[in-house]
Amino acid sequence: SNELKIAVGAMEIADKVVSDVMTRINDVFMLPDTTILNARTVMQIVKMGYTRIPVYTAGDKNNVTDLLFVKDLALLDPDDNFTVKTVCGYHKHPVKFVMNDTPLPCLLEAFKKGDGHLAMVKRLVNSSEHDPAYELVGVVTLEDIVEEILQAE
Ligand code: ATP
Ligand code: ATP
Repeated sequence: SNELKIAVGAMEIADKVVSDVMTRINDVFMLPDTTILNARTVMQIVKMGYTRIPVYTAGDKNNVTDLLFVKDLALLDPDDNFTVKTVCGYHKHPVKFVMNDTPLPCLLEAFKKGDGHLAMVKRLVNSSEHDPAYELVGVVTLEDIVEEILQAE
């Protein structure tokens, strides 16, 4: 039955971690904060079909500083040629980060408590040093957890 499948799926997420369900960074649609929001770029962004777009600073895709919400573009006058940085500075949607090895039940709890339902996924790269460094390896959303629950065999 479907109910049984969902129950099994819900139990199975206990054994899974963020990197099992995330969207990998190479498949993530991100924007540099320097992007100029004119009619052409706004159309390209809307056509991608995502609600939330990670924004990076200083040309460094590991340095995600903001989220651009597509709905933020609705009130924009394309002739103003605002940059993504300006629009993000106005809305200030906080970016969440999670480690790649976070168990899915913990992520689900975090999504339930918090406001946003998207997190950047990071991985520790040099654990031997005193100052740990991270690299971004993907994004994960509530949708990714729900999908995992519903697709149980
Ligand atoms: P919503 O459904 O709230 O309108 P959405 O369709 O943009 O938002 P989700 O439904 O949360 O996004 O996620 C759908 C899938 O898209 C998930 O697998 C998620 O990891 C992925 N995803 C979300 N945002 C992006 C993005 N900017 N680039 C690439 N993949 C994304
Ligand atoms: P500081 O290094 O000055 O403490 P921070 O960049 O770590 O600032 P926090 O808000 O303290 O900012 O970070 C919370 C967590 O998110 C930390 O584990 C941090 O490494 C991580 N983090 C913050 N910004 C980024 C980013 N742009 N890319 C990857 N991880 C980030």
